[in-house]
Amino acid sequence: MNYRARVERLAAGLAGHEIDALLITDLTNVRYLTGYTGSNGAVVATPSGSVFLTDFRYLERVAPLREFIDVQQANQDLIRFVSTRWAELAPGAARVGFESVHLSYAAHALLAEASGDVELVGVSGAVEGLRIVKDDDEIEAIRRAAAILEPVYAQLVGDGLAGRTEFDVAWRVQELVREHGGDGVAFDSIVASGAAGALPHAEPRREVIAPGSMVTIDIGAVLDGYHSDCTRTFATGPVPEPLGEVYELVLRAQLAGLDVVRPGVTGKDADAVVRDIITEAGHGEHFQHGTGHGVGLQIHEDPRLSVTYPATLEQGMVVTVEPGVYLPGVGGVRIEDLVVVTGDGCERLTGYPKELITAG
Ligand code: ZN
Ligand code: ZN
Repeated sequence: MNYRARVERLAAGLAGHEIDALLITDLTNVRYLTGYTGSNGAVVATPSGSVFLTDFRYLERVAPLREFIDVQQANQDLIRFVSTRWAELAPGAARVGFESVHLSYAAHALLAEASGDVELVGVSGAVEGLRIVKDDDEIEAIRRAAAILEPVYAQLVGDGLAGRTEFDVAWRVQELVREHGGDGVAFDSIVASGAAGALPHAEPRREVIAPGSMVTIDIGAVLDGYHSDCTRTFATGPVPEPLGEVYELVLRAQLAGLDVVRPGVTGKDADAVVRDIITEAGHGEHFQHGTGHGVGLQIHEDPRLSVTYPATLEQGMVVTVEPGVYLPGVGGVRIEDLVVVTGDGCERLTGYPKELITAG
């Protein structure tokens, strides 16, 4: 990962936020900029040089960071440490930004109390705006995290779903993700059968999956900090209508979504293509979440494919396409792929088949 370039891009963009320096305390953003994975680190970015701060517990571990950023030892209370040292950390800075979305009210109060004449300015999205387009190293990491999911599904299907509890299947996902090289699951797996399939974020129950039902399995792996995300809906035998028809509808909408994801299309328009198909089939009210979301160091990040996201997609963005139809009391279907936006379309990173598979 080219951390030096990331820190430099951030520093070069500070003028655009009308600040002289920026304090980054969100650990995901700190990781993006430096690769630091501990629990107590911060970056002070300035155009004339940036500083990474951590306490003594991590000093040895962060030695490699010295290649591209000034590393300084702070005490464990980073906010207090930083707020009393602006003159050294950001010489001459009059306006210093903080991450308004991430800094707690208490931390801000502490910062404000000790920062003296430095004017504190709330800034949002400075690092997230860089993270939204993935570089080749990141795409490769996400690709590897996504590839883990194919053998996981294959093994779940091979072992069969009917007769096991949702809870048991979810636990098996955790084991399989590790067995296939993942560092862990990217989020609590969703295994939702029968009527529970109508709950988009169902929690796995200690209830046996019945034959002749639909089972939605939404899983992800995390590898080197990068996430993957995929959903397939399986049958455990002949399924009662209308779920079979609903499956075909959701698949058609999902394929149309994959077809429209390309540079220049807005998140809103991509969502509309998918949503219109479901609405025209009479199920608009049964699809109330967004069509997709960005995936990277976090499982849910920008961009979004949703009715409220007006910005355009760009090459190098990684998004999900995941329409669903949820019939209260009956069941549901969701089909989700993870894709990377290419020069003229998108490439699927989750290759597991999408025709309705019966896992008895
Ligand atoms: Zn998912
Ligand atoms: Zn998702």
